[in-house]
Amino acid sequence: MRLSGKTALITGGAGGLGACQARLFATEGAAVAIADLAADRASSLAREIEASGGRAAAVCLDVSCERSWAHAVAAAVKSVGPPTVLVQNAGIYARDPIAEATVELWDRVMAVNARGIFLGTRAVAPVMADAGGGSIVNVSSTAGIIGSRISAAYNPSKAAVRVFTKSTALQYARSNIRANSIHPGPVKTDMLDQVYPSAEVMAEREAELPLGRFASPLDVAYAALFLASDESSYMTGAEVVLDGGLTAQ
Ligand code: NAD
Repeated sequence: MRLSGKTALITGGAGGLGACQARLFATEGAAVAIADLAADRASSLAREIEASGGRAAAVCLDVSCERSWAHAVAAAVKSVGPPTVLVQNAGIYARDPIAEATVELWDRVMAVNARGIFLGTRAVAPVMADAGGGSIVNVSSTAGIIGSRISAAYNPSKAAVRVFTKSTALQYARSNIRANSIHPGPVKTDMLDQVYPSAEVMAEREAELPLGRFASPLDVAYAALFLASDESSYMTGAEVVLDGGLTAQ
């Protein structure tokens, strides 16, 4: 198994991409802490994984809150052990053109998507270092590489994740901690319904992609699995783009 002996803390672990990773990582031998604001969904996923022979626990977490991180890391260590893998998925989308966006919405998107990654890294890295090191996988987006016609805060928040990941790689390399970012294009999850104004527009955008389809959560989970595993042991500070060719154009 590709993750045997590892313990993964997955933020946003009860949602589309995170839940898919939690199932895959557990199948590959990791003990998984499913950390999410949605405590009920996290608990039922943990029960599902345990029922199918995996090891998992639910942890309540608001990534934008420093105190919540302290509680969540302590709870994860107690239930499944110190994380040697951290996947930071938790994120929110806002369809807020610059002319209409409010300061409150800008701050909220930045608090969850950008501050959340900073707080998570700071809370988990010392525990990971004490456990001998590990791998941090930060979920950015193609939105962290290119601009948007429809949103003010989302793309800058994901760009922050992209460069913060490189700083993490530099600052923790000698603690044997690697950090890489993942940049999916559109993926079929609940979040995608917020991106496009109608089913027709969504279908048009899907058809325009070079590969002609949106990513599935499993496409992204396999990239996270590779970065979490020792197969990627010489990769740090790198960006993995999975976008069906979107940004190659
Ligand atoms: P989703 O909305 O399906 O799931 C997000 C999960 O994060 C939910 O379970 C939610 O409860 C949790 N969450 C939200 N705010 C939180 C907070 N403050 N603290 C803890 N948990 C919180 O979204 P998804 O599509 O699975 O997206 C996961 C990540 O992938 C996000 O960072 C998103 O920006 C990124 N992404 C998504 C797409 C896409 O098309 N779906 C594309 C590129 C990148």
